[in-house]
Amino acid sequence: MAWTSVDPERLKREPICIIGAGPAGLITAQVLLNDGFQNVQVLCKDATVGGVWAKGRVYPSMYTNNVHGELRFSALPMTRPSSGRGPAAAESRLKGTDVCSYMEEFHDKFLVVDGKSIVQFNTEVLRVQRGGGDIGWNVDVRDSMGSPTLEGDEGKGLKTLHFPRIVVCTGGTSAMNIPSGLESAAALRAGFTGPVIHSGDSWGIMDAVQEAARSSGKPVVVVGGGKSAQDISAYLANQGVPVKLVCNQVDMFLVSNPSFSSDIRQSRISTLLAPRRDLNTLTELFLHNTWLGGKLTKKIWESLAEQSFAAYNIPNSSPLRNTRTMFWDVRYGDEGVPREDSFPALAREGKIKLELSTHVSGYYEDGTVLDTGEKVEASAIILATGYKSSWDSIFDGDTANDIGLTQLVDPEDLDRHTWDYTSLRNAPKADAWISSTPDPSLWPLQRHRPRKIHPTSRHCSEWSGRAVNIGYSWEVAAHWISSYFLGEKMRLPESMEDATEETMRNLAWIKTRFPNSTIWKNPSYASSLPQLGWIQAADDLLEDLHLPSMRSGGNWLTWAFRPVRSEELATLHEERRQKRGN
Ligand SMILES: Cc1cc2nc3c(=O)[nH]c(=O)nc-3n(C[C@H](O)[C@H](O)[C@H](O)COP(=O)(O)OP(=O)(O)OC[C@H]3O[C@@H](n4cnc5c(N)ncnc54)[C@H](O)[C@@H]3O)c2cc1C
Repeated sequence: MAWTSVDPERLKREPICIIGAGPAGLITAQVLLNDGFQNVQVLCKDATVGGVWAKGRVYPSMYTNNVHGELRFSALPMTRPSSGRGPAAAESRLKGTDVCSYMEEFHDKFLVVDGKSIVQFNTEVLRVQRGGGDIGWNVDVRDSMGSPTLEGDEGKGLKTLHFPRIVVCTGGTSAMNIPSGLESAAALRAGFTGPVIHSGDSWGIMDAVQEAARSSGKPVVVVGGGKSAQDISAYLANQGVPVKLVCNQVDMFLVSNPSFSSDIRQSRISTLLAPRRDLNTLTELFLHNTWLGGKLTKKIWESLAEQSFAAYNIPNSSPLRNTRTMFWDVRYGDEGVPREDSFPALAREGKIKLELSTHVSGYYEDGTVLDTGEKVEASAIILATGYKSSWDSIFDGDTANDIGLTQLVDPEDLDRHTWDYTSLRNAPKADAWISSTPDPSLWPLQRHRPRKIHPTSRHCSEWSGRAVNIGYSWEVAAHWISSYFLGEKMRLPESMEDATEETMRNLAWIKTRFPNSTIWKNPSYASSLPQLGWIQAADDLLEDLHLPSMRSGGNWLTWAFRPVRSEELATLHEERRQKRGN
């Protein structure tokens, strides 16, 4: 049943605010404009579009986990990367700069209306609250450059805007995470005067290079073992900078030699090998819920890891083999094919020193202190310590609870949901540090699909989540949001209770599926974390819209091998229009 009683034509004239101009914000704006919304305003704290892929964040040697054909939208083809032209994944691998150029081109083509961008740059949202009388949303903004770019600026660049509807596209994990005790101020207090930089400040890494050149051979210490830590260490080592990576465990690096073709990479095969909360096809039921299928699935994942180690000739005794298990974890990097200038090769050669099975707990005047009490000298320190939810800063606890965006959840309540899939047997026990990770003040809930579902305040939509081809996923989600605003016929939970229960199941699933990750504690991921199951998750959204899913086609033999591409979404506007007509 449609939730809105507002005339769609009037609704389209009302202002609608999108917070964020990363890939999610850009495609949402384009879909809303195409649907006839006449006053779409995008607020972006950066000076350029692209979010993670904005000009100030990508550096020349930055590779994405993606190949050509991913990270794009249906309305605009992406130029093949300059690095290669062939069909093999290695040749069509995207660099950060490729995605950056694409997002800028997309903005210039679709988001500049009457010669003026609909994006208000350098405009940081400080807080979102319900409007007076529980109507609409008050959005406190400031000029993030300190210059008077905001209309009606009152001197400090602060002002409150009001919108009937908002869409939050601030990136689930776009806020830099700095563990307590590792802040720059803590380094200064300890007497360390070299640069302390978060990996998100990509260009700040140049300071580390300069500082290393000034110091007499002291290494740059990189804290963390994820993809950013690995990429940055490799970048520094390739610049001839001595580098030491300190962490508990490094993330797995997926490579294959020869590389998989782009078509296979973009097919449903990898998504079928990862169990989903609900197994919908016979293939999934076989792979994850039969004795033989469960064994086969695990074997395939093990052989992918083994093949990656073999591709880099990593000896059995190497600490590089002490990686997180790909099957059970959300964190691993996709290297494509082995490259001699990449992290595994440089670490194997000793050009990147490793200090594993430990944590950095603080600083001293010459570098970092480990939890063992050992001291590690450093010329500069790079904190590749990840990202956290961007919501904490814009929704305060009361607001989030009030609008039903988040709700306290008793983790034990999640244990009533269980899955006895054969591929999930022998799950690793959660590390002690997971349970000791402080609980966020807000436990996640109330998010079922990419939207906000409080019955009395349905004018705020948000969505995030992790998906492998975010170009495809975000485009489907943008149609979902527009459809929801316009009150089109959709499959929605019948009641608040149903929606809550659905979200609880999702949360329980994420906790079961990724036992060694704290990601389920992150409010902006908790409603849905499709990860490799992104294609099925997008299919679910299409089905919510009563539109055909599994659009890549094929017959009973070929369907799993057909590439899933953004082009197949090009007709969604027309399909929705026809559906409205019907
Ligand atoms: C280091 C790193 C590497 C990654 N590598 C890959 C990869 O290889 N492949 C892949 O598919 N994904 C990768 N990702 C995931 C990445 O998040 C997505 O690719 C994608 O950028 C998400 O798009 P988004 O629009 O949701 O968020 P983002 O790209 O994070 O964009 C967020 C936008 O919101 C704006 N914003 C945030 N807070 C505010 C505020 N308070 N006020 C105003 N504006 C605000 C930002 O300025 C930005 O414009 C990576 C992420 C990180 C952090």
